[in-house]
Amino acid sequence: MSSSATTDSRPGTPAASGAAAIRLRGLRKEFPGRPPVVAVAGADLTIGSGEFFSMLGPSGSGKTTVLRMIAGFEQPTSGTVELAGEDVTGRPPYARDVNTVFQDYALFPHMSVQENVEYGLMVKKVGRAERRRRAAEALEQVRLGDKGDRRPTQLSGGQRQRVALARALVNRPSVLLLDEPLGALDLKLREQMQVELKEIQREVGITFLFVTHDQDEALTLSDRIAVFNEGRIEQVGSAREIYEQPANVFVAGFVGTSNLLRGEEAERATGRRGTYGIRPEKLTVVRPGTRRSGSEISAAGTVAEVVYAGPVTRFVVDLDGGGRLIALEENGHSATHDELRRGDPVELLWHSEHLIEVPEENSTTDDPSTAQRSSS
Ligand code: ATP
Repeated sequence: MSSSATTDSRPGTPAASGAAAIRLRGLRKEFPGRPPVVAVAGADLTIGSGEFFSMLGPSGSGKTTVLRMIAGFEQPTSGTVELAGEDVTGRPPYARDVNTVFQDYALFPHMSVQENVEYGLMVKKVGRAERRRRAAEALEQVRLGDKGDRRPTQLSGGQRQRVALARALVNRPSVLLLDEPLGALDLKLREQMQVELKEIQREVGITFLFVTHDQDEALTLSDRIAVFNEGRIEQVGSAREIYEQPANVFVAGFVGTSNLLRGEEAERATGRRGTYGIRPEKLTVVRPGTRRSGSEISAAGTVAEVVYAGPVTRFVVDLDGGGRLIALEENGHSATHDELRRGDPVELLWHSEHLIEVPEENSTTDDPSTAQRSSS
């Protein structure tokens, strides 16, 4: 693996057109210890103005540390942070045109919703009438225009999170940093808030930099995503690029079900050596001998598990030539696979264009021009 994080030098992105809202160059953070903890191992990243950009990765991969260095809460060991083309690396948080929304809301319980949103403006000595007007506007933006008089305790979790968002929006920052802001919400509310967050971002047009370890959330919300692993950026790309063309085995496994075949197993199933992946929804499960169109590739196997999950059924299939693949079938149409049971012989079918060659590691050097597999 490369010793430096990958960069996005994609022509045609907002980042490449010069309208960068955030630019990180060689950003590195070590925390003291024996040995020192390398939280961020040299990140290069360019985020365009007005983008909804997510940093996705497992716990401890360095996402929050990057966010904190952009906000100014943490100083990098080396490297720089630029906001709108200006180097802000040495500046304190209050001298940067960013606001942060945290997971735990941090609302003042003794103040009304309106007062909570006004608070930051009061500290900045904005006049009372102007404060009122701007806070009301921010509450409108997060669909809480009628809740200004309430106390935070009289709101639901989702509403409290929206107050936290309004409190950041009221400052009209160029960049909003969001650190797992939906992490405390239950799944239903979380999904609802994802849709709202995206709508709000589109309306206000501010650059959103969003931290999450939830791949569905990142795929749903983002214009582009950076996938983090052990302090490095493994890949930067759109949801489709990350999912359909993972840069390496880590990305393939972290975003979606990886379904990999390696070495001889791959050769027996595909006729090619190497490491190959195929997404579960691209596979079709049929009984042996079922007629099919000529263009499909097939591999024989045995059903190891059938999991009915409402809209879909998941089949775990052990291939006769070695290896195990998961196939996902929608439960909508005639669903002949309903009758399949554990131990049944089956054939898995796929189209050759859905087989992705997945490098074991990033085939990159420190040269940024070769670092971005998905950039073509
Ligand atoms: P999570 O999703 O759990 O918040 P993360 O991807 O945001 O994880 P970071 O919080 O950035 O990861 O942490 C990256 C690494 O740096 C971890 O190993 C963490 O333990 C370490 N780390 C973070 N802050 C400090 C600190 N103040 N002192 C020492 N080590 C730290």
